[in-house]
Amino acid sequence: MVIGNIERLSDATKLSAHVTRILGQNPGLMTLQGTNSYLLQPPSNPHAPLILIDTSSPHTANQYVDLLLVHLHHLGLESGTRETHFESNVAKASLSNLPEDQVDQVKASLVAERAENGRADELMLVEYGPGSKWTATYHVTANGSTNSSERKLPNIEHIILTHRHLDHVGALPTLLRALKSHGCPPPKLWKFPSPDEAELCASERDRPTSDAEIWQSLPAGTYQSFSPLQPFHPIIPGLMISIIDPVYRHLLKHDKDGKPKWNEVPEIARVSVRCLRTPGHTQDSVSLVMLEGEKGVFTGDTVLGQGTTTFLDLASYMTSLRTLLALKPNVLYPAHGPHIPNAKESRAHLEEYITHRQIREDQIVNILQKLSARTTSDGNPNNLTSILIDLKRAIHAQAEADNAAKAPLMVDRRKAIPMPDFEDEKASLERAEKEGTRPQAAVPMSVLCRLLYKSEDERLIFAASKSVGAHLVKLEKEDKARRGRARWADLAGKEVGELVEVETWEYVGPPEQAEAEAKETKEKKD
Ligand SMILES: [Zn+2]
Repeated sequence: MVIGNIERLSDATKLSAHVTRILGQNPGLMTLQGTNSYLLQPPSNPHAPLILIDTSSPHTANQYVDLLLVHLHHLGLESGTRETHFESNVAKASLSNLPEDQVDQVKASLVAERAENGRADELMLVEYGPGSKWTATYHVTANGSTNSSERKLPNIEHIILTHRHLDHVGALPTLLRALKSHGCPPPKLWKFPSPDEAELCASERDRPTSDAEIWQSLPAGTYQSFSPLQPFHPIIPGLMISIIDPVYRHLLKHDKDGKPKWNEVPEIARVSVRCLRTPGHTQDSVSLVMLEGEKGVFTGDTVLGQGTTTFLDLASYMTSLRTLLALKPNVLYPAHGPHIPNAKESRAHLEEYITHRQIREDQIVNILQKLSARTTSDGNPNNLTSILIDLKRAIHAQAEADNAAKAPLMVDRRKAIPMPDFEDEKASLERAEKEGTRPQAAVPMSVLCRLLYKSEDERLIFAASKSVGAHLVKLEKEDKARRGRARWADLAGKEVGELVEVETWEYVGPPEQAEAEAKETKEKKD
């Protein structure tokens, strides 16, 4: 997660010969510049079919689909594929030079020639003009002319979903409807079946991202179903999804078992991805390894271009990060944020993710250990109220410093706000300590997140609590932390509210480790 300035990305960017990034138009705190959806196409032919990886959020579906279609239009133009029609002034002028009885014959022979070679370019007939529409197929009418107002749009043959989250799958219904209305053939949808489908369906919050709910959102007849009961084509680890430029398809040979020999087709005329399971962010997360060109890896939300991601299961998440590192990717194409353009930076990026998690875990253990101690390192009684009031003071001081740095640039020259005395908060916290049921060593989750991130920003705390929670679950499995419940103050942003039941955590790991660490910090101090 990143707060503050993030690099600006263009709406549609060709990142390599095979890969174009289309922004989801859904920027936000969690989505950074918006979801990156990627179009993959063999570079040999802008009119070749495409693979689309991920879409956008439901609320930005229209903007995203418009942008995607414009890009497909551009590919159609680039391809130089022409349709034949005879209504332009230039065409009419050319045809008017012919004897009248030959006009139909000439028209028919031109249509035949174009049908043979869509890029034949011998006659100045109208190709694209205002009001012309795109279509996926040529409509040759009875009199031999094609429908004058329709053009051909390259097909999206496969849509691969890296995982179930709505900012990746939410624009799917709108996209499928739009493709159908443009006459495109229905694509195949690929997704790893959610292993926790039953839990997702049972949870009110997660239900919209269950396979069943996503299926139900898809308009009938707009995609190629895997089976009547299963719209998604299931992703199996190791599965390869590929596109071959139709112009080169005759080069594709098969071995005696009927397996296609992709390598016989020049690299420029194909694009393919191999699917890899990388659970952790969600249980159904996959990454996709491109087999051509720069052999980049599409990481979904497992790795982002900037900041860190959230995860449900830390242990499997760490395994997934190590799997990605072992692939030695040359390029990382994350689902949010800029791509990582070379092998050295990709490696460093993945290693940073791994060490970041380790550091975070150490910090959590450290805070839990400190708070579980009866006295602070300088011998005073351990007092949660004063720790939290000190944090409030530090946050205020930081805000003032930021304000002072910006003030000269502001029209109104912001003035400093006097430091609040926090007496109300202090009284409420003291009451919570007295009337609540918090055991000395057990820390409410909200306190842990505040101390960890040194912030009271409710959105940040909410987002952080998920990853902190995953760390705690891992520590719990390793018998280092214990979960509990207690009545304590409800913390919401800067407010200290009434007593409520909250989740608490305490350190129960090996004491020798705690002692060793305490000794180490003491030695460092000395
Ligand atoms: Zn996600």
